[in-house]
Amino acid sequence: MTDRVFNFSAGPGTLPLSVLESAQRDLLNYKGAGMSVLEMSHRSAPYEKIIREAEADLRTLLSIPSNYKVIFMQGGASLQFSAVPMNLLPKGGSADYILTGVWSQSAIKEAKKFGEVRVAATTEDSNFNRIPAGEELQLDPNAAYVHFTSNNTIYGTQWRTEPEVGAAPLICDASSDFLSRPLDVSKYGLIYAGAQKNAGPAGVTIVIVREDLLERTPKGVPALMDYRLLSEKESMYNTPPCFAIYIAGLVFKWLKDEIGGLDRIAQMNEEKADLLYRAIDAAPDYFRGHAEPASRSLMNVTFRLPDEELEKQFAKESTAAGLDGLKGHRSVGGLRASIYNAFPRSGVAALVDFMHDFQKRHG
Ligand SMILES: *Cc1c(COP(=O)(O)O)cnc(C)c1O
Repeated sequence: MTDRVFNFSAGPGTLPLSVLESAQRDLLNYKGAGMSVLEMSHRSAPYEKIIREAEADLRTLLSIPSNYKVIFMQGGASLQFSAVPMNLLPKGGSADYILTGVWSQSAIKEAKKFGEVRVAATTEDSNFNRIPAGEELQLDPNAAYVHFTSNNTIYGTQWRTEPEVGAAPLICDASSDFLSRPLDVSKYGLIYAGAQKNAGPAGVTIVIVREDLLERTPKGVPALMDYRLLSEKESMYNTPPCFAIYIAGLVFKWLKDEIGGLDRIAQMNEEKADLLYRAIDAAPDYFRGHAEPASRSLMNVTFRLPDEELEKQFAKESTAAGLDGLKGHRSVGGLRASIYNAFPRSGVAALVDFMHDFQKRHG
């Protein structure tokens, strides 16, 4: 295992080593089935068990109330940008979106194809370096729903807690902080998350939806985007992304049994992020965080160096030192360290050491 690097990629992101080892062990012959999960019928008994256990473990982790359905879908979070308005924005209705970055922007762009969209708040004027305060939200009391992005992967900002939006169902794109902390699911109408940031591999998107909202799906929604149909068919309307669900299921078991649940992982995530933000704040003339401190993400830490040449050098040298994927997104520039659930504390410590060393050599 000595040739594995510290993988700071924003997504697909690093997975727990024990999950990879378990998948490797069972790859050729899954628990005596004589075949791999990659080759197995999704209607077979062993696969039924895999998908049902994945849902049950997810329900346990998040304490999902019984009036919520879990759907495993394909098409990434981006498909949900369309599926949400197609199912939940009635003809003539209007939806509120809180605009906190590129992903919210993409969600808005899709929703506009299906109905009226209002931007209830935005922090675009400061290059999305913060989360809007409660009093900045200008909500439409008749909104069909309110959509927000819980963690802004590109900018490195994160909601501390969900916005207060009154009676309208709250819809959350939780792709990059899903399962990083406990969540009160009952405050939401729908939560969706592409698995590849924090919950598994690319290919499966998890949707958690309050049962009564399934009644909203109008006629004419394509089958594969129809929440009501997919939920009735228990994610088996057609062949689900079998292997991705299997790996996500192993990640749920890792969280539940090895880590000890979401309270514990939240504490670990706080500690990791704190270590890194303290290193940034300790040298304010050299390292500059992009996000305002009160809006800082525990998942994606974005920071700048004194100039772009140094940033390029930092990305190059860190990669050579086994710290992979630190180059920032072009919308922010600089560096971005994605330190999702499965990213080890030792990797954060290694980055902090590298930062000290880099500043000493190039300061
Ligand atoms: C990565 C990301 C997306 C896009 O996900 P895809 O699965 O590639 O469609 C959407 N929202 C957020 C918050 C993300 O981090």
